[in-house]
Amino acid sequence: MNNKVKVVLQTADHEALFFKEHEKRQIQALREKAALEADKKYREEHKGHCFRCGTKSLAEIRHGDVIIDICINEGCGAIHLDKGELEACQKSLQKSNRLLTSIKEAVSSVFK
Ligand SMILES: [Zn+2]
Repeated sequence: MNNKVKVVLQTADHEALFFKEHEKRQIQALREKAALEADKKYREEHKGHCFRCGTKSLAEIRHGDVIIDICINEGCGAIHLDKGELEACQKSLQKSNRLLTSIKEAVSSVFK
């Protein structure tokens, strides 16, 4: 007894599958492009807006060696930190503390 099954696909079936797959890839590419454009548009529209109060009131303020964004809207005052800025602020603060400590030590050594 022969258990083999023979499946014959017509040429038209191959073409239909090819075009269906091609169309699916094109739609996916268009969706990805639209999502990127929507994200870009959203970022441009919300540039300089505070995430907390929503107003366009962010100002750049130097904090030690780091420039951070602070909301100048009265009653908000949210601080916006980009990636790595918190660590940079901590390092800057440590540097300031070391400088302050060395100044205190220098001043107190004069009065000994
Ligand atoms: Zn705000």
